[in-house]
Amino acid sequence: MRQSPRCGAKTRKGTRCQAPALSGKTRCRMHGGATGSGAPRGNQNALKHGLYTKEALAQRKHVRDLLRKGKELIEKM
Ligand SMILES: [Zn+2]
Repeated sequence: MRQSPRCGAKTRKGTRCQAPALSGKTRCRMHGGATGSGAPRGNQNALKHGLYTKEALAQRKHVRDLLRKGKELIEKM
């Protein structure tokens, strides 16, 4: 039983949850393992810097695409 994966969710005490995680998951049934659980879209409860929000990722992808297209254009000239 000691080897069974434990839930790594951070508790309000700052420690790890330590409840047995669901099979194939890293969280227990109280911490997002159950189906249908989890935060709704756009939830900002755990937002730290917004670097990985869908909007920020899309923005960076757009910039990358623009840079690549610019390079291609220069190479054609
Ligand atoms: Zn847990």
